[in-house]
Amino acid sequence: MELKNGSKIAIVGGGPAGTFSAIFLLDLAQQIDLQIEVDIFEPRDFNLTGPRGCNMCGGVISESLVQKLASHGINLPDELLIDTIDAYTLHTDLSSVEIKAPKDEMRIACIFRGAGPKGAENQPPIPWKSFDNHLLELAIEKGANHIKNKVTGIIKDRGIPKLTWGDDNKQKYDLVVGCLGLNSPALQMFKDLDFGYKPPKTTKAYVTELYFGDEDVSRLLGHSMHVFILNIPGVKFIALTPKGTYATLIILGDDIDKKLVNRVFQAPELQKCLPMGWKIPVQTCHCQPQINIGAPKNPYTDRVVLVGDCSSSRLYKDGIGAAYRLAKAMAYTAVTHGVSTQSFQRFFRPACRKLDWDNRLGHLLFYGDSLMRPISFFQEAIIEVIREEQTKKEVSPRLSTSLWDTFTGSSSYRNIIVRSLHPMVVLKLIVQAAKKLFRFS
Ligand SMILES: Cc1cc2nc3c(=O)[nH]c(=O)nc-3n(C[C@H](O)[C@H](O)[C@H](O)COP(=O)(O)OP(=O)(O)OC[C@H]3O[C@@H](n4cnc5c(N)ncnc54)[C@H](O)[C@@H]3O)c2cc1C
Repeated sequence: MELKNGSKIAIVGGGPAGTFSAIFLLDLAQQIDLQIEVDIFEPRDFNLTGPRGCNMCGGVISESLVQKLASHGINLPDELLIDTIDAYTLHTDLSSVEIKAPKDEMRIACIFRGAGPKGAENQPPIPWKSFDNHLLELAIEKGANHIKNKVTGIIKDRGIPKLTWGDDNKQKYDLVVGCLGLNSPALQMFKDLDFGYKPPKTTKAYVTELYFGDEDVSRLLGHSMHVFILNIPGVKFIALTPKGTYATLIILGDDIDKKLVNRVFQAPELQKCLPMGWKIPVQTCHCQPQINIGAPKNPYTDRVVLVGDCSSSRLYKDGIGAAYRLAKAMAYTAVTHGVSTQSFQRFFRPACRKLDWDNRLGHLLFYGDSLMRPISFFQEAIIEVIREEQTKKEVSPRLSTSLWDTFTGSSSYRNIIVRSLHPMVVLKLIVQAAKKLFRFS
């Protein structure tokens, strides 16, 4: 079951997973002189502001991913990069500490997935461009066809997948790559194909774009992402990211609802990062997307494979980087080893399993955090150890870099746990915790 000259491939969804898949498939096919046709189905217009043009995300990408993309000729022009982050400020219920980027090349880039927040169209000219649209244009430049339509049906006709879209258009494909994210009812179409696909477990997150104006953004946030680890049950963490005139607020946790969002806005630590007297606008640009928190089941069968959020991703970080990795593994498998279940099992599955296993360790890390978070002297000990690492050059910044990697996705959870449990880190935490405990008692 191999791709041949003239093979047709459909990619359902033109977010990062879909466009990376198209780019890698076309590049690899060209390298071995294979003529394939790639259709990307994407109904959304990424040049629109607000939720209509946006794939609902924090828009933070690590410099290491920016560099990896560049090595594949996927360059991100300056108009896409709205802000650069070179530090994290960790806020707990008790105090705050700044963690500088461990190295200059580890800075973080901030982008908008669509043309920007709802309302930005009233302040033309919009100074930034859409990240997703840029990737889609690159895929089209490489030779992909963009079909601006939603796929409405998928069946298998004598083993060959057949898609339906628009006014009853139908087409058979040699390979269908599902890249439709987690927020689409069309996931059911893949489940109905009955090959045992079960989408990943998800929970509801919250994202909002807050307009502060550039002076307040730079005065209150600087070039730092502000991460809040507060003792609010159900909330894993909160991040406030500077993006030009806006600040993007993300709340991650277990099924975030309106009550929890209001509680977060009332938190004194967050209030300190908002302009004086600032009130949530009635019509702020916000959304509550699903976020991947578990492994999918059977994300492939003969001639059908799922990539990106609807397949395996990374827990609470670097979803775009995970889409890049799976797209690469999928394209390599399809072009060089074929599109059968066995080929995907042998060459695509290891990439999924690597992410899934690491996420299990991520869950363990967050569980440990949830146990320790209410213990105030432990929180203080963490801040003290980081403070020492950040101020004394001779001290190895093991805990600081572990936290940096937890929020940026620059490293695996396995690596983060190993570094956080280094005997020197544990010893320092015990000493600091004991000091705080004595002072407290
Ligand atoms: C709150 C939150 C914050 C996040 N922050 C970050 C971050 O800062 N950095 C990061 O790297 N990742 C982040 N992520 C994760 C990131 O958003 C995802 O990992 C990434 O968008 C996955 O890309 P994708 O292409 O798989 O899916 P999506 O980006 O969701 O794209 C799916 C596409 O499929 C299209 N589609 C759906 N149904 C159909 C259909 N029937 N026919 C045709 N097309 C269809 C949709 O229109 C959409 O464009 C965040 C996620 C959440 C929820």
